[in-house]
Amino acid sequence: MTTESVAPVGVSSTTTDIPATVRRLRQTFATGRTRSVEWRKGQLRALERLMTENETAIADALDKDLGRSPFEAWLADVASTAGEAAFAAKNVGKWMKRRHRLLEMSQLPGRGWVEHEPYGTVLIIGAWNFPFALTLGPAVGAIAAGNTVVLKPSEVAPASAALMAELVPRYLDKDAIAVIEGDGAVSQELIAQGFDHLLFTGGTEIGRKVYEGAAAHLTPVTLELGGKSPVIVSADADVEVAAKRIAWTKLINSGQICIAPDYVIAEAPIRDQLVDRIRAAVQEFEAGNAAGKKIVNERHFNRLTTALAATKGQVAVGGGSDPAGLKIQPTVVVDPDPGEPLMTDEIFGPILPIVTVQSLTEAIDFVNARPKPLAAYLFTKTKAVRERVIREVPAGGMVINHLLFHFATHKLPFGGVGPSGLGAYHGKFGFEEFSHRKSVMTKPTRPDIAAFIYPPYTEKAWKLARKLF
Ligand code: NAD
Repeated sequence: MTTESVAPVGVSSTTTDIPATVRRLRQTFATGRTRSVEWRKGQLRALERLMTENETAIADALDKDLGRSPFEAWLADVASTAGEAAFAAKNVGKWMKRRHRLLEMSQLPGRGWVEHEPYGTVLIIGAWNFPFALTLGPAVGAIAAGNTVVLKPSEVAPASAALMAELVPRYLDKDAIAVIEGDGAVSQELIAQGFDHLLFTGGTEIGRKVYEGAAAHLTPVTLELGGKSPVIVSADADVEVAAKRIAWTKLINSGQICIAPDYVIAEAPIRDQLVDRIRAAVQEFEAGNAAGKKIVNERHFNRLTTALAATKGQVAVGGGSDPAGLKIQPTVVVDPDPGEPLMTDEIFGPILPIVTVQSLTEAIDFVNARPKPLAAYLFTKTKAVRERVIREVPAGGMVINHLLFHFATHKLPFGGVGPSGLGAYHGKFGFEEFSHRKSVMTKPTRPDIAAFIYPPYTEKAWKLARKLF
């Protein structure tokens, strides 16, 4: 369903004429209007206003879809997306500037530079857990780069998707940016249109299907995927602060965050103290909320409670759940079996396994025996430990002595590696991700000084060429 018509909430397919919408956006791109710095800045400012002027409506939609608190709605969806748009609006002129490169002697006279060229018409497929930040957030880079954009929000957060479909055409250029609501089948129908670039946020398995669909058209992709993000707590860590930060970030959005601490690896000497401090932090943060954290839907609730019921670990905190309210208590499981679902599948909920290890080497080996994570975290007070983990643990991103904050800066690229993703965005990196780096070289015609290179190839010309190239 395009933004021109109103979609029934939770539609499983779209009534939009997808080819016609994509054609319209392609025509707009062909006019050249989206290439001007004025258009880009205007749209980015409008996107910032869309977020800030509709803070209450956005918080309501997030409450309906996810039971999210207004503070977390503001922090993670409104402020992050508005901030990203404002940062890009301020800097896009600078990012677009040509930067001439000093060419080699053999290339002189001549000038060369990279022209950041918009791909054309691009597709963004969003996830439900931060429906605004993960759909309109990537759109910031796409708009800054001068593309026209189709946005496909997740059908799992229907109130948020419907609100985006209502607001986007009110604030943004209708013929350049369109929202199409629908499910996975709609995503595949969109991908089959052959976009000039696509950015997908979601699980690794669906990411594979998106990649396959894109391959048929050689559509370049950015894949923002999932996985299990570990937290190593070293024996020398500030355990009290570590426990608070781990508990807080595990409970935001009920643990349904791609870069939430999935599991903790604690060195034996501090393991019990860490469990006690996490228990205390949970009691403090969740006072008055005994029922637990709201899970997005029954499928995910059943997945989580089944994994918890199957654990061979010791439930040290929480463990209860409420099927009628789809709520699960913040739960800590100590030493689950490495082969059980809690340790093989991404958790994406308020359950935190803690694995005990005897050394830092064992902790690093544990992480590296598994797929490369989207994020890896470490708590330590020692520089040598920090440097070792930075060097030896591959991950999409890393935070030392905190969690999540690498997502919140415009100054660092955000993305995964291997099964946790392909490509990155945020700030200037988003602009670059949605741009083709076109090499441009200009040469004078006269004097035609390198004429010796033309055939017939003489011995003398060859000697000269060997010296030059
Ligand atoms: P999901 O993979 O189920 O869905 C994501 C999007 O893909 C939705 O818009 C959905 O409609 C669409 N989709 C579903 N089936 C499809 C198909 N066959 N082909 C094409 N598109 C299809 O993910 P989710 O449940 O919305 O989000 C949870 C997952 O996303 C977790 O694994 C999480 O780690 C990951 N995630 C990653 C990031 C990141 O930035 N790397 C952010 C949030 C979530």
